[in-house]
Amino acid sequence: MSILVTRSSLPPFNEYIEELRSVWDTHWLTNMGSKHKELEASLSSFLGADFLSLFTNGHLALEMVLQALGLSGEVITTPFSFASTTHAIVRNGLTPVFCDIKPSDYTLDPSLLESFITDKTSAILPVHVYGNICDVDAIQKIADKYHLRVIYDAAHAFAETYKGKGIGSFGDASMFSFHATKVFNTIEGGAIATSGVELKKKLEMIKNFGISGPEDVIAVGGNAKMNEFQAAMGLCNLRHLNEEIEKRKQIVERYRNNLGRIAGIKLNSIPVDVTENYAYFPVVFDQYRYTRDQVFEKLKEHEIYARKYFYPTINTFACYRDKYDAAETPVAQYIAERVLTLPLYADLSLDDVDRICSIITR
Ligand SMILES: *Cc1c(COP(=O)(O)O)cnc(C)c1O
Repeated sequence: MSILVTRSSLPPFNEYIEELRSVWDTHWLTNMGSKHKELEASLSSFLGADFLSLFTNGHLALEMVLQALGLSGEVITTPFSFASTTHAIVRNGLTPVFCDIKPSDYTLDPSLLESFITDKTSAILPVHVYGNICDVDAIQKIADKYHLRVIYDAAHAFAETYKGKGIGSFGDASMFSFHATKVFNTIEGGAIATSGVELKKKLEMIKNFGISGPEDVIAVGGNAKMNEFQAAMGLCNLRHLNEEIEKRKQIVERYRNNLGRIAGIKLNSIPVDVTENYAYFPVVFDQYRYTRDQVFEKLKEHEIYARKYFYPTINTFACYRDKYDAAETPVAQYIAERVLTLPLYADLSLDDVDRICSIITR
């Protein structure tokens, strides 16, 4: 049987059906119903956020928080991420500026940050890529010095803590994705965590067409409300989250044991001061006997589908390459050409992990 890079977690079927009973009783399907309220409250304490706003997906959450913050001009970001991060900037009429990443953990390199700041810069949008936490202290220091907003793409960092603080407590806001392929899913879904009650109120309005009252529309908003079926899935999956993360941990430890001491294979370093969520298992093939692409093809022959995640980098996409020179972010290019994300999901068996590793090392 083939092994895909990920497999969505589902609660027991009857648990979800039971959760939906009150939806049938009330006929309240969307627009901030009781499931939505319950999930929002559970998640905000869980993520260490003062305020949380749920969305129909992570991407629209990111687009709308950039709108709500009223940004202008340029936003400094990383090319080593999913398309969503940069698209959210561009779709707000803002200009992305690409800063390179650190070779150690692939997050935005704060030592380069200042060189990209101009009088047009309004914000920094870093990514906690693979759940590796950005250098939040250094980034905040620079943001404070130049009066810039910081919005984290925290799509990979759900449930993590850094130095004992919830991951939703950093910067002006953090975006989470609850897409089917993430550690925690609401089928599709997302959220913005923030410490500002004003920002939360603005998001509520923007995600509902800019409507502020029965006869008032005060902004050009969109529609990005999470519905009750999504929220119900979230409530169920949240009950099983510890189990989910524990299983992922076993798998990651097995991978680390199998691949940790092999010349030319570089694993994600174990982060300090972080409780991990074991969302991804990226491996960098650097002067290994085989190239990343050879390993990718060999796994494919065995019906094991790893992913070149993130390759290509965003600044080389067809829709951006005319405007950017990828050579300006050499570390991102280097990693993108060598990284492979190995299969990882809660019910991947340890035998399969061993099999995947032996194909790689054979
Ligand atoms: C998944 C993801 C998103 C987008 O989230 P959706 O919920 O799929 O819209 C954004 N950024 C990163 C880094 C992601 O992995």
